[in-house]
Amino acid sequence: MTLLLPALQSPTGPAADREAVRFDGLRLTYGRLAEASGALAARIADAGRVAVWAAATPETVIAVVAALRAGVPVVPLNPRTGDSELAHILADSAPTAVLAGPHDELPPALAELRQVRVDAAAGATADEAASGATAGGDPVGGPVPESALSPEDPALIVYTSGTTGPPKGAVLPRRAVAASLDALEEAWDWTEDDVLVHALPLFHVHGLILGVLGPLRRGGAVRHLGRFSPDGVARELASGGTMLFGVPTMYHRLAEALDAPAGTAGRDALAAALAGARLLVSGSAALPVHDHERIAAATGRRVIERYGMTETLMNTGIRADGAPRPGTVGPPLPGVELRLVEDDGAVLHEPRAVGEIQVRGPNLFSGYLNRPDATAAAHTADGWFRTGDVGTVDEDGYVRIVGRRATDLIKSGGYKIGAGEIENVLLAHPGVREAAVTGEADADLGERVVAWVVPVNPGSPPAAAELADHVAARLAPHKRPRTVRYLDALPRNDLGKIMKRSLHAR
Ligand code: ATP
Ligand code: MG
Repeated sequence: MTLLLPALQSPTGPAADREAVRFDGLRLTYGRLAEASGALAARIADAGRVAVWAAATPETVIAVVAALRAGVPVVPLNPRTGDSELAHILADSAPTAVLAGPHDELPPALAELRQVRVDAAAGATADEAASGATAGGDPVGGPVPESALSPEDPALIVYTSGTTGPPKGAVLPRRAVAASLDALEEAWDWTEDDVLVHALPLFHVHGLILGVLGPLRRGGAVRHLGRFSPDGVARELASGGTMLFGVPTMYHRLAEALDAPAGTAGRDALAAALAGARLLVSGSAALPVHDHERIAAATGRRVIERYGMTETLMNTGIRADGAPRPGTVGPPLPGVELRLVEDDGAVLHEPRAVGEIQVRGPNLFSGYLNRPDATAAAHTADGWFRTGDVGTVDEDGYVRIVGRRATDLIKSGGYKIGAGEIENVLLAHPGVREAAVTGEADADLGERVVAWVVPVNPGSPPAAAELADHVAARLAPHKRPRTVRYLDALPRNDLGKIMKRSLHAR
């Protein structure tokens, strides 16, 4: 099998002096990263499975790379996870050690585990005895030669975002990580000369696998901003950054910053920096068409979207030389098969028919940890993965996501209505800052379209009738929201995904 991280095989390889990662002043070359991760790999080689306290720090990068090199499966933990979710993840994944930075304060739930502290600045790693546990002692092994690992060995166990229910642990074999990153390399002409500008958290697929392992697999560089800001993005893109990976809430903030009058210093610098980037990529949730268009108008550049999941890594994406179009996530990536299926299992072939998206390919996970029931339920008899997302495929093979089957497909008056297109139209109304659309039980219609709106001006929100007419005039009368509810903010998770589950609960 090809190596997962070929540029990190030894501290003295040809790439040793190249920059691998940079976090707010702290730089790690490939040589330093190979050395630090190699030393740490030696200390954890006997661990069955390790958790990584995945703060946005260079220590997280060293820890994950070390575990991958040691052949020890990694469970990235969100440092902001609440106690009960953390307890669920720890009980489910049963790590034997937790890797953390020198100053991370770990919650009591982790006190029982062996704690291995990683210090990127010092290059040293130290073990701390946890209550009742033994300290790490001398190195027991080292990086395992990759020839000794199987492509099906689990590389990471990543928990899903928990948008639709409690997070499930997706077991990602080395084969899936390598295959998905190679598909992106091909689609995006991703090379060792690319410098990725990154501001995402490091405990999900997007920020960790695409945003960190992606550049490291290529031999390129990643610069993490710590905290997202339009100024930080402008600065890094203007000083060597070639690509930006972001979630829609970040592109929304960029669009807002670009709305300042031309001639404003920060605004013009941002527009110029975005215009000069090789690739602006959005994923993890749908990019509102309104934000896409505003960025295109201000910079001449179109953001490209890709569609992926924890379980499947990347499924589709607009190619670097493709034609980005608002509202589409592009064709299936190299190696990925995609089909649309009706509720009764019939496979759809006509363009623009709406069905559940199912995928197959080397990018797929090997199953949910400890959940053979959920794993079986997520697959068809002939081995396709049911994404739970509903979409269409255009004549030219471009996929459009209608939304999630469970929350975004509203069955009203005999029609199937996608929440996303109504959200896009609401967001284009000048009085609307944020919008989410859900379905609610209705005696006449089966389900009724409900709009949740965060107004630009809370003192004088646009009237419900005005918003309903705005939608009816642009889409169709049956898509008009029957109820409009006003909120101060939408409930969102760490990646900015709208938690429709908690809207329903209100
Ligand atoms: P859970 O599975 O725990 O409910 P989740 O599905 O949000 O949470 P992830 O695996 O992080 O967890 O997210 C995958 C989902 O994100 C996809 O199934 C899809 O609904 C959505 N998604 C990802 N990229 C896009 C995109 N470009 N456009 C629209 N939706 C997207
Ligand atoms: Mg999911």
